[in-house]
Amino acid sequence: MTVRVRFAPSPTGMFHVGGARSALQNWIYAKQQGGVFVLRIEDTDAARNRPEWTEGILSALDWIGIARGSYEGPYLQSSNAGEHRAAARRLHDAGRAYYCDCTRETVQARTGSQYQGYDGYCRDRGLGPGEGRALRFRTPDEGETVVVDLIRGEPTFENRLIEDFVIARGDGSPVFLLANVVDDLTMGITHVIRAEEHLPNTPKQQLLWDALGVKPPVWAHVPVVVNEKRQKLSKRRDKVALEAYRDEGYLADAMRNYLMLLGWAPSGDREIVPWSVIEAEFRLEEVNPSPAFFDEKKLRAFNGEYIRALPLDEFVVACQPWLTGTDTVAPPPWRPEEFDAEAFAKVAPLAQTRIAVLSEIVPNVDFLFVADPLIDEAAWTKAMKEGAAELLDAAVAGYEALASWDADALKSTLEAVGAERGLKLGKAQAPVRVAVTGRTVGLPLFESLEVLGRERTLARLRAARVRLV
Ligand code: GLU
Repeated sequence: MTVRVRFAPSPTGMFHVGGARSALQNWIYAKQQGGVFVLRIEDTDAARNRPEWTEGILSALDWIGIARGSYEGPYLQSSNAGEHRAAARRLHDAGRAYYCDCTRETVQARTGSQYQGYDGYCRDRGLGPGEGRALRFRTPDEGETVVVDLIRGEPTFENRLIEDFVIARGDGSPVFLLANVVDDLTMGITHVIRAEEHLPNTPKQQLLWDALGVKPPVWAHVPVVVNEKRQKLSKRRDKVALEAYRDEGYLADAMRNYLMLLGWAPSGDREIVPWSVIEAEFRLEEVNPSPAFFDEKKLRAFNGEYIRALPLDEFVVACQPWLTGTDTVAPPPWRPEEFDAEAFAKVAPLAQTRIAVLSEIVPNVDFLFVADPLIDEAAWTKAMKEGAAELLDAAVAGYEALASWDADALKSTLEAVGAERGLKLGKAQAPVRVAVTGRTVGLPLFESLEVLGRERTLARLRAARVRLV
């Protein structure tokens, strides 16, 4: 039997990191089993779908290494609508489903209490189809449904506690539970690897598989992803969109490595490992069923390590979207013609060891390309204390007299200027750094001044001096 797995996102919003994690797990599992990965876009919730979200899913998957053309699909659930309806009819004709004209209110009026599920009133009324009549599945009164789950063992559900659930609405349209099963069935899916939140649906879906006369798939419900307060990651509260991480400058390799650690770890005491190791070592059966903490700080640290491990030329290429702007990354504060690739190449190695996400390249190098430094007022106030004006005067005088404009000479000159005032180099640097870059932190100062050049450095020091008068 060929293993066939599927990833079945609904195109109702940005692509959630938890979804990306499930997609990767499916992807690896298929690869390990010599199987097939199917992508199905579950687009039947017409009120919430938008076509651009589908495109977003495809490009986000592409970004983390599930490339278009290397999987089966994408199929659209909506194009299988005929099969969904036919399955509903078959279930009805076989006596496994019945029409029902009850509303929540009529059920509640009958049972007296709060609505606690359907009471089976229409089971034997023999109603035919009609406007407003939902189709309900007749769940067995006895026995139990055992879900075989690679991660959770064999969760067992008593059938008598499962209500006769709706499989098609009053307008005849099949609901998610049925459409999802029919698609899996027609697509020959053997393993359903999906988020834990679908576990409550599973006994109902398994009953549908049984009723349709096909052996159900093997299930694997991967743990829910939570924030530091152990709350399920939500798009209203947390940063959950894979695209947001991409646009901030997370590397795809760091991201997918991190995502695979949600509920699983490679052998040894390692977390940062090549993708080939993850592909070889990952075991779906070893995934921890407890909620997995999405630790953004840790992800950031991971990303910094991945950035530092890049060969320099790849780092330079990786920075390009932030240096030029794209349709999803805001343009930098300089004009395209102000950018100087040669100057950038000189400071790139200094920046590579200091940034954790690629977007941070911009505030580190903008001083090289903008006409005037972008002064951070808080930094200015902090650095331009008493004595700053005199220090800048002395620095200008010293720098004007420099024979060779290089980092060593720039450093020793400022060291001497500081020493005359009883200041350590760190203190003497602060006003110079803010005058030239606009910030209190950044790349090593003297290398920065060397690349910026004599004219511009002196002009900025003088301009700061004027501002201090
Ligand atoms: N479309 C469903 C979702 O996005 C997935 C259902 C499934 O994986 O079975 O939650």
